[in-house]
Amino acid sequence: MRVLNFIIGLGCILLLSQCSNAQKTNNDMNDAHKGNPYYSRTATEHLNVSNEEWQKILPKDVYEVARMKGTEWAFTGKYWKTDTKGMYYCAVCGNPLFRSDSKFASSCGWPSFYETIKENSVKYIPDNSHGMQRTEVVCGRCDSHLGHIFDDGPPPTHKRFCMNSIVLEFEPEETK
Ligand code: FE
Repeated sequence: MRVLNFIIGLGCILLLSQCSNAQKTNNDMNDAHKGNPYYSRTATEHLNVSNEEWQKILPKDVYEVARMKGTEWAFTGKYWKTDTKGMYYCAVCGNPLFRSDSKFASSCGWPSFYETIKENSVKYIPDNSHGMQRTEVVCGRCDSHLGHIFDDGPPPTHKRFCMNSIVLEFEPEETK
């Protein structure tokens, strides 16, 4: 009987260990977001999370731009001159924002796109700060500040989504 119990116990341990390995593989992509319970690339529900809570979750430099409406220095962000094929997600909540197909070389020093993936990927807010009349662009899911939109972009939209790299997260297209 003891031997039988031992074998059953061993079987359970092996099974649990297999499950945990499978779980680990599924979450590998999101390892960078451990500790961010709101992060998802597929969820669509709107997030109402206080800045106080985001401050506990996000890296300081992401928080400063995303939640305090900061702006990174031009020509310093990690995506301002990249042209790799793939998708750009909100670095705060994982919401899909832009395809690399809509990214264009802009001399402004920030990653620039002419359209979002979906109409509701982002929201627009009038911004009269710093003595300028601009339109702020925030994430459609988590309301984080992403950048501004201008009317001097290329066809077909003639829009320029001028974004901060720090609040974007790029996932390269899989090449086979
Ligand atoms: Fe977001």
